[in-house]
Amino acid sequence: MFFCPGGSAPGKFKGSRSFQVLCSLSLGMSKEVKILLVRVKSDGRQTYNISEVEEQRIPLSTISIRNTASELIKACKGVWVKGKFKESYLLPAFSVKPNIEVHIPIPRDKLNPPTPSIYLESKRDAFSPVLLQFCTDPKNAVTVIRGLAGSLRLNLGLFSTKSLVEANSDHAVEVRTQVQQPADENWDLKGSSQTWPCESSRSHTTIAKYAQYQASSFQESLEVCISCFFFPSSEQKPVGKVIKFGTNIDLSDPKRWKPQLQELLKLPAFMRVESSNNMLSHVGHTILGMNTVQLYMKVPGSRTPGHQENNNFCSVNINIGPGDCEWFAVHENYWEAINRFCEKHGVDYLTGSWWPVLEDLYSSNIPVYRFIQRPGDLVWINAGTVHWVQAVGWCNNIAWNVGPLNSYQYQLALERFEWNEVKKVKSIVPMIHVSWNVARTIKITDPDTYKLIKHCLMQSIKHIQILRDQLVASGKKISYQSRVKDEPAYYCNECDLEVFNLLFVTSESSSKKSYVVHCEDCARRKSPALTAVVVLEQYRIEELMRTYDNFTLVSVMLQMFTKASRFL
Ligand SMILES: [Zn+2]
Repeated sequence: MFFCPGGSAPGKFKGSRSFQVLCSLSLGMSKEVKILLVRVKSDGRQTYNISEVEEQRIPLSTISIRNTASELIKACKGVWVKGKFKESYLLPAFSVKPNIEVHIPIPRDKLNPPTPSIYLESKRDAFSPVLLQFCTDPKNAVTVIRGLAGSLRLNLGLFSTKSLVEANSDHAVEVRTQVQQPADENWDLKGSSQTWPCESSRSHTTIAKYAQYQASSFQESLEVCISCFFFPSSEQKPVGKVIKFGTNIDLSDPKRWKPQLQELLKLPAFMRVESSNNMLSHVGHTILGMNTVQLYMKVPGSRTPGHQENNNFCSVNINIGPGDCEWFAVHENYWEAINRFCEKHGVDYLTGSWWPVLEDLYSSNIPVYRFIQRPGDLVWINAGTVHWVQAVGWCNNIAWNVGPLNSYQYQLALERFEWNEVKKVKSIVPMIHVSWNVARTIKITDPDTYKLIKHCLMQSIKHIQILRDQLVASGKKISYQSRVKDEPAYYCNECDLEVFNLLFVTSESSSKKSYVVHCEDCARRKSPALTAVVVLEQYRIEELMRTYDNFTLVSVMLQMFTKASRFL
C-alpha cells in the first residue's frame, strides 16, 4: 500500500510486475516531486523503500515533434513563463518553399512567361494524379485547363444568366461600380497618371435586375458597333465609362442551387468544392465563398482587384462565358514586393483594392503571367499566387477555394495566419482548429506535410498548457465545456484572432444572455485580473495529448493495405 500525500489517493497498489511505481505529486505550479517505490523482500516479507528521484524532465527548448505528448506537457510544466508565452506555429527548418532567386535580373522578354496551359486529350486525363501534381507544384503559380468543361461534359448552361434568373431571380447580388479602362492601365482619379489604388463603391441588387443590366449593356454595345461600322467617325473608346460588376453571389444553398451544385460533382476530386483531402472540408462549418460556390456576373471591364486568396488557399475558377476574361498572376514568392508597392501608394495590401501597374512589376524584376480564360476554361490559382482579373466580354464566372493537403499549401496557410495576426486581419480559415481536425481524421503519408502539422499541434499544446498553468497558478477557475456538433471555431471579438480551446468569455448583457469570446490579451485589457471573465476549456488536455500521440506519419504501403482490406 502507499499513500500519496497531498494528492488524491490513486487507489490500492496491487503489486505490479514492475518494481518501480512512480507517483507524481503536483506541488503548485511547476514543481513536481517524483517518488520511487522499490519493492524489496526481507525475511520473506515484502516492504517498500521510498526515495525521491531526480525529475527526468526534458527542457522545453529541446522538445521536438519526436517527443511524446506527456514529455511535452512535463516540459511545459517545467518552465516558468512570466507574462505571455508566444511562439510561431512554424519552424523555418521545415520550410518547403521553392528557391526562387529574386536578385538575378530576368531579361525583359522573360518577365512575361507563358502560362502553363493544359489541353486534356480525354476525360480520363482529368482524373490522372499527374494533373493534381502539376497544379499543386509549388513552382506553378497558375494553371489553365483549357476546355475542361467540354472534356467533362459539364453543362455550363446551368450557370448562364438565363438559367440563373429562372432558378432564383430574387437572389442577392453585390454590385461594384467601376470605371472601365484597358486591362493593363489603372488611372488615378484625375486621369493624369497610372496608379495602384482602385477603389470602387458597393451597392446591392438582385440577379434579375443585374441580368437586365448585363443584357442591355450587351445590346447597347451591338448598336454602338453597328453605328461604328457605318459611321467610323463616331467610334467611341471604351474608356471612362461607368460599369457595374455583379460579385459574390452566394450559391451555397443546396436546395436552391441543386442542379448547379450537382453538376460540379463531375469535376476531379481535388478541384471539387468538397473532398477528403481538402482542408476546407475539415473546418466543420461553412465559410461562404471558400467551401461554397460563388458566382460573378460581368460586363466588359469588370475588375477583380489584386489579391491572394484567404489564408493563401488555392482557388478554382470556371468561365461560363459567353465572353472571355483576362488574367494576371504573380508567384507567391513576390508578394512582399507587391505589398511594398501597395504601402508606397497608401493602399492596404490585405484589405484594400489595388490594380498593379505592370511597369512597376517589370522594373522590380517580377515576372507576370498574363492570359485569356475562354468559356469552359478552368483556372487553378495555386497556393499564395497574387492575381487580378478583368472581363474582356460579357460573362459569368463561378469560383471557390480548395486547400489540398500538401506541405506547401499548409505552410503558406499558416504563414498567412500569422501575418494576419500581425496586421490584425481575421484569418478566414481558423488554422489551429483545422489542424487539430485534420490530425484527428486524416492519415498523412507525406513526411513534409506531417512535420509541419505535427509542429503546429506541438506549438498549440505548448500555448495551451503554459497559459493553463498560469491561470491555475493565479487562482483562476477553468470550466470545462466540451464542444458540440457543428460548433464553429472561435475568434476574438476585439482583434479577430482565432481563439482555440481556452475561451475568455464575458457576458455583455446579462438579460439577453449574450456571451462574447475574447483572446487572452483582449480579455485582460478589459479586466486585468480576469475577474469579469469566465475561462472555458473546450478540450481536455488528455484529449489533445491523445490526438497528438496518435497523429503519426503513415506509410504509403500501409495506407494502400488498409484501403484494400476494406474490400476483402
Ligand atoms: Zn483579441
